Amino acid sequence: MMQDTSSKTPPLFDRVALIGLGLIGSSLARVIRQRGLARHISGFAQSQKTRTAVKELGIVDSVAASASACVKEADLVILCVPVGAMGAVAQEIAGALKPGAILSDAGSVKKAVLESISPHVPQGVHFIPGHPIAGTENTGPHAGFAELFDGRWCVLTPLESGGTAYGQAVERLTHFWSDCGSQVEIMDAKHHDLVLAITSHVPHLIAYNIVGTAADLEDVTRSEVIKYSAGGFRDFTRIAASDPTMWRDVFLSNSEAVLEMLARFSEDLTALQRAIRWKDADALFNLFSRTRQIRRSIIEAGQETPESDFGRSHGSDEKAGE
Ligand code: NAP
Repeated sequence: MMQDTSSKTPPLFDRVALIGLGLIGSSLARVIRQRGLARHISGFAQSQKTRTAVKELGIVDSVAASASACVKEADLVILCVPVGAMGAVAQEIAGALKPGAILSDAGSVKKAVLESISPHVPQGVHFIPGHPIAGTENTGPHAGFAELFDGRWCVLTPLESGGTAYGQAVERLTHFWSDCGSQVEIMDAKHHDLVLAITSHVPHLIAYNIVGTAADLEDVTRSEVIKYSAGGFRDFTRIAASDPTMWRDVFLSNSEAVLEMLARFSEDLTALQRAIRWKDADALFNLFSRTRQIRRSIIEAGQETPESDFGRSHGSDEKAGE
């Protein structure tokens, strides 16, 4: 279905191609369609099942039979596949990319993606890595929604060596993400990975670990874990339900920053252990007061709502999934 643009301002892009039509790709398709950001959206996913589902949902104008067919004539190409698949997809589409096109991605890790895609980018194509910091624990084309990026940050990590045309491409992509509802921040890829290691990757690792530990406990039955899960555990299970492929790739490709942050985390955990052992009430109270303030700051910054839902809600609260 073509976008009717006759009475509106012309769309930002003539043709946008989305490779990967899961949570992120299908949300992008929906918001591009809803806000008239492209005249034509083409999409591709690796499985026939997803391609058929996307056709049925009617969220793109055409579903291509291959990744390279999808990107033909596209002015903007966004790779929305797991981080570990980025290099192979970039290699596959390289020969079909239009000169002057913008090539970007949505991967949760930036340095590894930069290194895996860069060798395949043809001369004249503007490669601008990106990461919308918005998500839920759900995956697949049915999980997406047009408002996913509203009020969230999108980090772009442009190359240092770009000229004037590249700078204009960065401006255009910034404009695109703003129109999707995001606030855009430009950052160095290595710095992005360090920041996201502590704000997203290590918290996911802790959630995977605590849910795994609880599941392995022999003196607490699995039904008790489920029955008495309100005390914080339930929130962890929501995060620990996140996509295994995506998160496996995140930890394998951002290992350096994650290990650095984990080392800091372990030191602080040891200090907490000591405070509990020696009944250091002040140390515990002071830390818990500081962390409570961080939560308040996040709410004040509009990145979370004040209600506690213990993982029950399936509304907008889940937007902070990543
Ligand atoms: P998802 O829902 O699992 O979707 C992944 C999509 O990629 C699926 O459509 C899958 O196709 C497709 N795919 C996988 N390998 C492919 C390949 N080699 N060629 C073509 N398509 C392929 O994942 P997602 O949550 O949208 O994540 C996509 C990217 O966004 C990841 O890099 C992730 O790190 C990043 N990200 C995720 C979040 C989040 O919270 N989920 C937030 C921000 C950024 P099939 O369906 O056919 O298997």
